[in-house]
Amino acid sequence: MNHSELQTPYFMIDEEKLIRNLETAQKLKELSGVKLVLALKCFSTWGVFDIIKPYLDGTTSSGPYEVKLGYETFGGETHAYSVGYTEQDVLEVADIADKLIFNSQSQLAHYRHLVEGKASLGLRLNPGVSVAGQDLANPARKYSRLGVQASKIDPQVFDALEGVMFHMNCENKSADSFIKLLDSISAQFGQYLDKMQWVSLGGGVFFTWPGYELEKLAEALKAFSDKHGVQLYLEPGEAIITKTTDLVVTVVDIVENEKKTAIVDSATEAHRLDTLIYDEPASILEATEGAKHHYVIGSCSCLAGDQFCETQFDNPLEIGQRLHIMDSAGYTMVKLNWFNGIKMPSIYCQRASGEVVKLNEFDYSDFKRSLSQWSV
Ligand SMILES: *Cc1c(COP(=O)(O)O)cnc(C)c1O
Repeated sequence: MNHSELQTPYFMIDEEKLIRNLETAQKLKELSGVKLVLALKCFSTWGVFDIIKPYLDGTTSSGPYEVKLGYETFGGETHAYSVGYTEQDVLEVADIADKLIFNSQSQLAHYRHLVEGKASLGLRLNPGVSVAGQDLANPARKYSRLGVQASKIDPQVFDALEGVMFHMNCENKSADSFIKLLDSISAQFGQYLDKMQWVSLGGGVFFTWPGYELEKLAEALKAFSDKHGVQLYLEPGEAIITKTTDLVVTVVDIVENEKKTAIVDSATEAHRLDTLIYDEPASILEATEGAKHHYVIGSCSCLAGDQFCETQFDNPLEIGQRLHIMDSAGYTMVKLNWFNGIKMPSIYCQRASGEVVKLNEFDYSDFKRSLSQWSV
């Protein structure tokens, strides 16, 4: 299948790029002894899990359906975590999860009897320190509800636990700053960790970023796990899927109001939500920064401020031309929605062999079904 025959909008996952990230992940495992579980909340397009499985140890989740999806489609170790479980959730999850991690001591006290003998019990702790660019995504922000603070721990809870989870990074590209967090965790919680079998250090460690000091990270992880006698886990999401996937769109119109705006057949609010939430402009493959022709890349939604980015091109854009919005997999394909009734992007994978495989496509019936299945 020739790419130009595919109808936009669509996502194209590139297997070769994905494997490059996975090989880095494998190297980290070999050097450090850490186990890696994919954070499904970042990326759950299970149609490519057969590519990922050989490199990672399993999955982790942020909600009950992700647990089931990981169990069904990925296998290996299935970790279950949620900020707030209902009793029904716990009943469902305990049977399929290898590890079940509660967010609070009260959830642990309420539900541990439903888990014992089934899954290994864990509790999320909040180290009060973090590396996260934006407050919205900072688990150690003021009044955070994510995990138990050191000062609030009832030491007796550790009698019931086999492991703990910390998650305090978001796109942390510095091994040194991660090591500082590790030292803080050791100092605050070391006496408890010594009694545990496993410790997860969460996600947000951007070890596939160009120039990341992988060996330094591996050494620190190994030292930490030796010191406390625990099996370490990381829960990477973005680090696995980063820079593997383009959202391909078509310019459908060009309008001018002091600036030229190229309107494309996609919208950040529907198809690339984090562009909006975190105010992080997208990058376009065809653009040349600083070139002569300046455009706003605008979405086809009705939201006034809905744009992908402002950028420059060597030549004027033309209606009908395709643009590749790069790095559009993580926290993107999991957040697709039907706002404005805009056509949902199809999902393809470009295999290393060159073959293009269709993973999903949507039509009007999916839109309609998502709104009501029955009428009054
Ligand atoms: C979001 C999250 C992850 C994944 O984070 P990335 O930044 O995508 O690596 C892992 N663990 C927990 C508990 C999370 O909330």
